[in-house]
Formats: sequence, C-alpha cells, structure tokens
Amino acid sequence: MTFVKGKVIDRRDWADGLWSLTVEAAVEPHEPGQFLNIGLEIAGEPVRRAYSLASAPGAPIELYLVVVAGGALTPALFRLAPGDAIDIDPRPHGYFVPSELPAARDLWLIGTGTGLAPYLAMLRHGAVLARFERVILVHGVRLVEQLGYRDELEALAAARPGFRYLPALSRERRDGLVHGRVTAALASGALERAAGVAFAPEASHVMLCGNPAMIAEMQQLLAARGLKKHRRREPGQITIEKYW
Ligand code: FAD
Repeated sequence: MTFVKGKVIDRRDWADGLWSLTVEAAVEPHEPGQFLNIGLEIAGEPVRRAYSLASAPGAPIELYLVVVAGGALTPALFRLAPGDAIDIDPRPHGYFVPSELPAARDLWLIGTGTGLAPYLAMLRHGAVLARFERVILVHGVRLVEQLGYRDELEALAAARPGFRYLPALSRERRDGLVHGRVTAALASGALERAAGVAFAPEASHVMLCGNPAMIAEMQQLLAARGLKKHRRREPGQITIEKYW
C-alpha cells in the first residue's frame, strides 16, 4: 500500500472524545459506504486503521471518530488540528455499499456510535433516498450529546417524507426519542412503532454498522423475524460492517 499525505482542514467536536475531521487529500473516488485506511507515524512506526467515509463522493474527505481509551491510533488522531498531516491510502475499500443491496421497499440503516459514518455518506449522496420507498436511520448512542450530525439529519427528515431519523439513547430518556439499546428497542417492538414500519423479509433490507456485539444480537433478533444475511450468491436481507 502506498500512502499519500493528507492535510486536516477542519475539525468539529461533538462531545467528549467524539469528533469529525475534514481532510484534503488526493484519493480515488469512493462509493458511499466505503472506508479508507488512515494512519500516523507513532514513535517511528506507522499505525493504520480503517475509517468509513462520512462524506459524499466528490466532497472533501470527512471522518467521524471516537477516541478508544488505550487505543494505538485514536488518541493521536484526537490531537490533530487544522494544518496537520495524516497518512491516507488513496484507494477506498469495502462492500458495505448500496450498489451491493438487492431490491427492497424499506431500507433500515442501523448504527451505533461512529457507525453512523457510512450512512451519512449514503444519505448525503442521495442515492438510497431515490431508490428505496422508505429509509429509516436508527442511531444508537448512550447520551443525547453523542448524537453527532443530529441537526443535519433532522433537517433531512423534515425535507424528505420517505426518510425517518430515529435516535435511540441507552443511558438517558428524552421525550420523542427511543429509549434503550437498539437491540432492546428492536426486541420490544419500539423501533418499528417509532418508525411506523415493520420488518418483513419480503420488504426490508437492514444494514448494521458499528459495535460487533450489537450486530451479532441484531442478526439473531432479525433471524427470528425471517431475515438472513445477504450474500451475492444467496440473497438475504441483512448487510453488516463490524468496526472491531
Ligand atoms: P486499537 O488499539 O486498534 O484497539 C483497541 C481496542 O478497542 C481493540 O480491542 C478494538 O477491538 C477495540 N475498539 C475498536 N474500536 C472501538 C470502538 N469504537 N469502541 C470501543 N472499542 C473499540 N472507527 C471510527 O471511530 N469511525 C469510523 O468511521 C470507523 N470506520 C471503520 C470502518 C471499518 C471497515 C472498520 C473495520 C473499522 C472502523 N472503525 C471506525 C474502527 C477503527 O478502524 C479502529 O478500530 C478504532 O478507531 C480504534 O483504533 P485504535 O488504534 O485507537 O485502537
């Protein structure tokens, strides 16, 4: 892999250890949902990790990041400010992209924490909104302050009747927002009630992104509703991207 140098041009802090970086770099075009390998040299050694692109194709690279305590890379990324350099593999990767999805009426985009990032790229690009009758974005976080991009997503929901934005808070209650982990909200039926849409194998496709424990539990819950993992050779209704 040959890395190129990128330059941080903007930084936005959302909550403690949760932030976005905008980076200028000569990278190849990406499909919404893909990721880039990004890194820094730390103590003389390159440290690289995968990060989903939150930006639409053609826009400056935007990353949505969280500090992992004791992590090798994120504490160093957190110290970056506009003007700083960053190493980027210019080739985007990944199959967590709408073009891999089979036909469906409803698309559920379910993510925890920074697992929102690929959905931002898809929604900003607009292709999923044009293709699916209903798009339901479920963003699971602990506290309301961790709902990055909330204003943008609420504005999109107000402008596009087919798009629903459902934040879910696991550690606090707020009027109008789903309470509990996304897994519990699915199991209790709260997600479907809030969306006004039911999961159905003949009508739904579900994308799951972020915490691997959430993804495993969601797959089990959805299997009980007749939904199974999508494969090119064996079409199904669930597409996943595990962050670790
Ligand atoms: P490491 O030293 O690599 O890991 C420390 C430990 O933390 C490991 O055990 C790891 O399993 C665990 N861990 C990793 N991520 C998390 C987390 N978020 N919460 C809790 N524990 C974690 N991260 C983002 O913030 N934004 C993204 O858009 C993003 N996109 C990704 C896309 C893909 C395809 C993949 C595979 C991962 C993505 N990640 C993303 C995770 C990212 O690649 C790193 O794993 C993460 O930033 C931690 O790196 P680190 O070097 O600081 O920690």
